[in-house]
Amino acid sequence: MSVESVSGTAQIIDGKATAKALRAEVREHVLRLSERGLQPGLRVVLVGEDPASQVYVRNKDRAAVEAGFDVDTIRLPATTSQEEVLACVRALNEDPKVHGILVQLPLPGDLDGDRTVEALASHKDVDGLHPANVAALWRGEEGLVPCTPAGCIELLDRYGIEISGKRAVVLGRSMLVGKPLAALLLARNATVTVCHSRTEDLPAVTREADILVAAVGRAGLVQADWVRPGACVIDVGINRNEAGKLVGDVDFEGVRQVAGAITPVPGGVGPMTIAMLLRNTALAAERTLSA
Ligand code: NAP
Repeated sequence: MSVESVSGTAQIIDGKATAKALRAEVREHVLRLSERGLQPGLRVVLVGEDPASQVYVRNKDRAAVEAGFDVDTIRLPATTSQEEVLACVRALNEDPKVHGILVQLPLPGDLDGDRTVEALASHKDVDGLHPANVAALWRGEEGLVPCTPAGCIELLDRYGIEISGKRAVVLGRSMLVGKPLAALLLARNATVTVCHSRTEDLPAVTREADILVAAVGRAGLVQADWVRPGACVIDVGINRNEAGKLVGDVDFEGVRQVAGAITPVPGGVGPMTIAMLLRNTALAAERTLSA
């Protein structure tokens, strides 16, 4: 993996190139599965017309087709009832051609995302959000791991950034990113601190970090003086700044002068999420061969 390194500034962790390499590996995996008579099937359930969700789903769809998956998006109107959403999920659970199901969250209106995720067959829950997969992650058992946190770990590994024994600080404690990432870092023997909106003196905590992950959703929250010199900074945040530009939670230009390595936004963690979704789906398909 090539690392862009400018004298006096951080290595840029290139999520776009890493995700491309990962997608090529998944494509190879899919070819090997097809030699065994199996084509991984992915179904994305999209309820309503939220423009951001439409873009995400279109990108997932394209990447899945390129990787050789049997992929389809089930589009339901925003007026769909909870029972109808659950019926759709149950039908996909029963379909042997489907190995991975992804319900695009958040669901519109009063639809209950938690109830919907709980209705998924856990072995098809390629987003890793079903309670059985959450428990498996914390218990160190085989399951499916949420894609964005898994993508962060993959970036650290592919750039040879040591995790074991290091101090990791995670900003954010959501079920989607912060908590599963903390579990993954802990499983890899990091000493983990999880911060949130009530954490006192955040900069004092973040300055302790060898690995600092920001998953908050606030443009430019992490400033250069929050970062220990040489630390690795992973920016999960996706925000629009005042000028309408896509930015992360980290003041990239300032922090890159201090950090040892840093992910940009865009082109950092974002592309890894879809690549990990594909990897999870291929894995879920392969597991049916030994089930
Ligand atoms: P979320 O559910 O809104 O959680 C945000 C977390 O940040 C919460 O735990 C919150 O604390 C904490 N927080 C809020 N303000 C804070 C502050 N000033 N200081 C410290 N912590 C603060 O968001 P999410 O779903 O985890 O997503 C986080 C960011 O990652 C968003 O920008 C999202 O768009 C992005 N994201 C990117 C990808 C990707 O593929 N790159 C995937 C998923 C999400 P409390 O718990 O106390 O409220």
